[in-house]
Amino acid sequence: MSGISENIRRIKETLPQNVTLVAVSKFHPESSLMEAYAAGQRIFGESRAQELVRKAATMPGDVQWHFIGHLQMNKVRTVVPLVSLIHSIDSLKLLKAVDAEAAKLGKTVDVLLEVHVAKELTKSGFSEAECVNLVSGGSLCECSHVRLRGVMGMATNTDDAGEVRSEFRRISSLFHLLEKTAGSNFTEISMGMSDDYHIAVAEGSTMVRIGSGIFGERQY
Ligand SMILES: *Cc1c(COP(=O)(O)O)cnc(C)c1O
Repeated sequence: MSGISENIRRIKETLPQNVTLVAVSKFHPESSLMEAYAAGQRIFGESRAQELVRKAATMPGDVQWHFIGHLQMNKVRTVVPLVSLIHSIDSLKLLKAVDAEAAKLGKTVDVLLEVHVAKELTKSGFSEAECVNLVSGGSLCECSHVRLRGVMGMATNTDDAGEVRSEFRRISSLFHLLEKTAGSNFTEISMGMSDDYHIAVAEGSTMVRIGSGIFGERQY
């Protein structure tokens, strides 16, 4: 009896139809991913390039890989061929590098702009003003091999549910502001992890990234 498939079933029961579940499988072995796959899960989130390469080589070909962690410039070439969505675009330089790599491969990569609203300075991402400048300022038009699909954000790691809710609300508001100029592909708000996805969904998330809630604690 698999706890993993049971966890997926339980989480899916609580998610509205329009919310996509990304199973965050970083640090978990392929056997665990296969249990999730057997339960019907096809979207997996990874945050390290080498781990993604290894897992992409062994998992079935219809898995969709999302990159959710900080993407280093020197890993762009490794990651872009493997992924359908990058959640964590946190600089214009990175966006341009992803675009250039996708152009070389003749593919278009979906991306989200990571916005920094949390209190921890260790988290990365654009400020809200930077996102507005980026989307309305025209620098995206030059990037013909990335499709800007929305925003991604993380709330502060705190027990203060009110703080978490207000941060998710800021991400949602930013999304709705950008939506006015971003075009029709701009549909996704990636927010919510194991401990806060209920709040994120209530605040408009369309994509939750859940790791330990599916696979248990990570073994680092
Ligand atoms: C690890 C990670 C998650 C999943 O976290 P859990 O608390 O295990 O659900 C979600 N998003 C990002 C960006 C992560 O790095």
